[in-house]
Amino acid sequence: MNKQNFKDTGKCCLCKKEYTHYGNNALPLKDGRCCDECNAIKVIPERLKSAGIILSEKDTKKLFKFEKRAREKIWKQNIKQN
Ligand SMILES: [Zn+2]
Repeated sequence: MNKQNFKDTGKCCLCKKEYTHYGNNALPLKDGRCCDECNAIKVIPERLKSAGIILSEKDTKKLFKFEKRAREKIWKQNIKQN
C-alpha cells in the first residue's frame, strides 16, 4: 500500500458513517474521504457517468459486492505480508 497521510478510520464525508481502512476518495462528489458503501453506490457511478456510462441499480449493487470482495482480498494479502 502506498504511504498516505490519511488516518485509517474517520467519518464518511457523504453519509457521516464511520469508515475503516483509509476509506475512499470521494471526488468528484466531494473533496474528502468516504466509506466503501458510498464509494460503490455514489462515487464510482458518478465517475462512470462522467465517462458516459450509466449504471442500473442492479449493476451498482453488483459493483458494490465486487468492490468489497476485491478489497477484502487486498487486506488479507497486506496482513500476510506484514
Ligand atoms: Zn458513506
